[in-house]
Amino acid sequence: MRADAAVIGGGVLGLAHAYVLARSGKRVVVFERNLRASGASIRNFGMIWPIGQPAGEMHALALRSREIWLDALRDAKLNFRATGSLHVAHRADEAEVLREFAEVGRAAGYRCEWLNAEATMEKSEAIQPVDLQGSLWSETELTVDPRKAIGEFPRYLQESGVDLRYGSLVRRIDLPLIEAGPAASGAKERWEVDTAIVCGGDDFETLYPETFASSGLSRCKLQMMRTSPQPDHWQLGPSLASGLTLRFYKAFSICKTLPALRARIAAEKPEYDRWAIHLLASQTADGAITLGDSHEYGLDVDIFNKSLLDDLILREAAIFLRIPSWLIAERWHGVYSLHPERPFFEAEPAPGVRIVTAPGGSGMTLSFGLAERTTKAMA
Ligand SMILES: Cc1cc2nc3c(=O)[nH]c(=O)nc-3n(C[C@H](O)[C@H](O)[C@H](O)COP(=O)(O)OP(=O)(O)OC[C@H]3O[C@@H](n4cnc5c(N)ncnc54)[C@H](O)[C@@H]3O)c2cc1C
Repeated sequence: MRADAAVIGGGVLGLAHAYVLARSGKRVVVFERNLRASGASIRNFGMIWPIGQPAGEMHALALRSREIWLDALRDAKLNFRATGSLHVAHRADEAEVLREFAEVGRAAGYRCEWLNAEATMEKSEAIQPVDLQGSLWSETELTVDPRKAIGEFPRYLQESGVDLRYGSLVRRIDLPLIEAGPAASGAKERWEVDTAIVCGGDDFETLYPETFASSGLSRCKLQMMRTSPQPDHWQLGPSLASGLTLRFYKAFSICKTLPALRARIAAEKPEYDRWAIHLLASQTADGAITLGDSHEYGLDVDIFNKSLLDDLILREAAIFLRIPSWLIAERWHGVYSLHPERPFFEAEPAPGVRIVTAPGGSGMTLSFGLAERTTKAMA
């Protein structure tokens, strides 16, 4: 069997590469070891979140990625919501950072503005009014339901002529040869391709282990929760972030007022620093609210969830959120790969083969932009 390009991995990065390659006219085959994607790409908030990216190159890449996402979602007739986002301030120092960002961020190209408490409540009835100072409104964020978007997008790719090989582990790449097959059996299929793009998420073991061993890549485990669907078609409105999030996304590091906020949280809530907890809330297609998250870093991922972390997340959520039902229907964790210094990792372990992975906590945001970047670099 033959294709121009093979994509290894059916997470968002792999699917984005397949989409960009196929629309440039290439014959593409996608290999995914599982019968359906079950990695970080379906375990996330579904937030396409340019506001989180640092000013300059990464913010521009996120905005470009958003444009291609929109093309892809419309082509595939998949639901998305142009929700925008609100970063909400319930403390004076959070309001100071957000007010400063509304000025310096705008100058740096972010389409955002400061809203006072009243204007904030008009944007979303999900915000806790007690002690509310105001919020930063940004119009660029999109929300997708990751289980649906990542679950259903492959069908569109297939209709567009992409070969999908789900349940097929790629065991060896020796271009032009790719050897793959079901992980649990010895059955093999062989493909001939010109190029291979490896988007294997946090699998550092199966392909090119030497490249990964010297890459500095690591893993991060995040705990998440989801409520049952909210009653009466209740709408969250914009996807939401609490004041704790300001110390998390690099975009806000341009604010001179940030160190004071960091110091206050470190003194007041050391356990939130210990577990790198910040608060985000988004809504899925069925009306449930996704809440999270914590961050545990290191190659060795603890398979057990810690109820302490769920408790800390829910305690903080109650400070900034007001939702009709807090009934938690699902709890899970996800793992992504990340590089300690770079926003993503690229390598060319053999001629014609490119590894693209580790967009960290921004893979939903950056993948389509990264895919365009890869295909340009390989052209
Ligand atoms: C809890 C959580 C919340 C997040 N929230 C957001 C968010 O709201 N917004 C945002 O921008 N980002 C978010 N992220 C980050 C984002 O989800 C990840 O960066 C992104 O999903 C990584 O995508 P990926 O395709 O690289 O990896 P994955 O989704 O892990 O996919 C990799 C795939 O490759 C397959 N694979 C590996 N090796 C092989 C092989 N040899 N043969 C065949 N198949 C193989 C695996 O089975 C897997 O399906 C979040 C992450 C988590 C965990």
